[in-house]
Amino acid sequence: MDKIILATHNKHKIEEFERILTPLGIKVETPDLPEVEEDGKTVYENAIKKAKSGFEYTGLPSVADDTGLMVDALGGAPGVYSARYAGEGCSGKDNRDKMLAALEGVQKNDRTARFITCIAFVSKDVNFTVEGVCEGRITETDNGLSDFGYDNIFESEKGVFSAISGKDKDSVSHRGRALAALIEKIKELNL
Ligand code: IMP
Repeated sequence: MDKIILATHNKHKIEEFERILTPLGIKVETPDLPEVEEDGKTVYENAIKKAKSGFEYTGLPSVADDTGLMVDALGGAPGVYSARYAGEGCSGKDNRDKMLAALEGVQKNDRTARFITCIAFVSKDVNFTVEGVCEGRITETDNGLSDFGYDNIFESEKGVFSAISGKDKDSVSHRGRALAALIEKIKELNL
């Protein structure tokens, strides 16, 4: 496979997909696809819906990712609703502020959380999903370094995502792991 359609408008996701797939000779294309409503009950449903829209629009093998952040002290919330945790149309900062406020007073050991990413692959003959999980914890403050989602407040085993290199993030992140599984599958199926 030398080319894949990535159904997203998120510049950070595009950067991460390109960072991992381009060196392997897979060109990532991001045509301006119609916006898809992310109304699924799971990250799987949303990822499949987005990848399908990419395939229907272009006729080319398409992928999409959907991600959720599960925070133990919040009973697994916001999960599949992570993008609109602070309300419809909210910013990443709104979401981070709301999460830090919700976790006020919660001790370090109880601030455990995990990112889960599902990547769906949709083409004419082959459809599948892969996933990646990253365990970590929610920090006490926003380090203000990035505007990507929860990167400023999620501490992985390599450090807070926005404070480490892209290479380090990819080596442990939910998306890095899901992309590794995608690459394995592409090889296995000879795509
Ligand atoms: P979605 O997959 O775009 O629906 O992402 C759900 C929410 O998680 C959004 O608020 C994203 O900004 C956030 N998010 C997704 N991936 C990451 C990541 O790698 N780091 C930090 N936040 C993320």
